[in-house]
Amino acid sequence: MNRHIETDCVQGVYEPQNGEPRVIPIVQSTTFKYESSVEMGELFDLKKSGYFYSRLQNPTCDYVAAKIAKLEGGVSGMLTGSGQAASFYSVFNIAGAGDHIVSSSAIYGGTFNLFNVTMRKLGIDFTFISPHASKEEIRAAIQPNTKAVFGETISNPSLDVLDIEAFAAVAHENGIPLIIDNTFATPIMCRPIEHGADIVIHSTTKYMEGHASTIGGVIVDSGNFDWTQNDKFPGLTEPDDSYHGIVYTDTGKGAYGLKLVAQLQRDLGSVQAPQNAFLLNLGLETLHLRMPRHCENAKKVAEYLKKSDKISWVKCAMLEDDEQYALAKKYMPNGTCGVVSFGVKGGRDAAVTFMDSLQLAAIVTHVADARTCCLHPASTTHRQLTDKQLEECGVSPDLVRFSVGIENAEDIIADIEQALNKI
Ligand SMILES: *Cc1c(COP(=O)(O)O)cnc(C)c1O
Repeated sequence: MNRHIETDCVQGVYEPQNGEPRVIPIVQSTTFKYESSVEMGELFDLKKSGYFYSRLQNPTCDYVAAKIAKLEGGVSGMLTGSGQAASFYSVFNIAGAGDHIVSSSAIYGGTFNLFNVTMRKLGIDFTFISPHASKEEIRAAIQPNTKAVFGETISNPSLDVLDIEAFAAVAHENGIPLIIDNTFATPIMCRPIEHGADIVIHSTTKYMEGHASTIGGVIVDSGNFDWTQNDKFPGLTEPDDSYHGIVYTDTGKGAYGLKLVAQLQRDLGSVQAPQNAFLLNLGLETLHLRMPRHCENAKKVAEYLKKSDKISWVKCAMLEDDEQYALAKKYMPNGTCGVVSFGVKGGRDAAVTFMDSLQLAAIVTHVADARTCCLHPASTTHRQLTDKQLEECGVSPDLVRFSVGIENAEDIIADIEQALNKI
């Protein structure tokens, strides 16, 4: 039976049998025992499925990954040690030296560095385009060696909403997949696969885990993309010599997800610890309750800021007069996320005074957890970018990223008010 997403958050995938633990157990074991070498050999050859080493697969991690895949509507999921690893793997699984990726410029600062500096060193080229690019502009950025298009549903920290269907349409026209980082929206507010995304990734460190306790990531394969339609993806359609010639696309719909585990996780090993996966799952069990509350509180905070004469601008796509309101309504009809960005009148200095005066809201690098927190990206997460790059990714020097938590909204607003009065 197909249950609702709220039920899957709480009880999805893990269904204990008689006498088994009610809660997903933490299988804190590197390895798994077998009666014969022959049997273990078959596991190594992917001829049989089963656990043998936790760098490849672990039952706790697999339950949690499968739950997230279910929430997103995909066929398989794989947890990673961090969101950064998920971003890297999602692209590296289908691109290598000599290949090219088209990415929205409105992406997380860490992803921008990964793409623009580190992955360029591996020989993968990137073209960054506006998240509001027209179909013609997206088309113009695609080259014969382009292997994927990448963007964020609602970007961190610039809060730009991506027109997922337009990006998916142009990607598919060119026989390449769309990879979406859905960290800020979560599957509760947006399910990118329903709008044409082929791969969905998350930093589970944020809303999914929700309590700022563990770093983690996940990659979900929709199973929808046909990798055999052209010769752009030899890594999936031609024999993998490191697995005795297995052809991933011969194994069925989950070719991309299988290669992620069998090849990238085997060789690169950015696994999530079972203990962390357990904590992530505790967060998932309340994701459907937290997200609407985050959105409700963020909207109240944005409405308050909008009226304040100490604030120069407010960005929150849930406000009816926001430029992106219509796009946000299309992709996130019940709200976007808990993050609001704004500029404090008086620029950088005023922003710093404001932030230092907050009592309830803490200054932290983190974003998107149960506790209200804030950050000045230009002097922290984005400090390595030039002013031009800052502008390109939609981060002005006066931007304060305010991550509204699930406390009482009146208390959050009272804190903002007293801090603004200190300017
Ligand atoms: C934080 C973040 C990442 C990186 O995730 P880590 O878990 O910090 O490695 C990637 N994408 C987005 C949108 C993020 O907010």
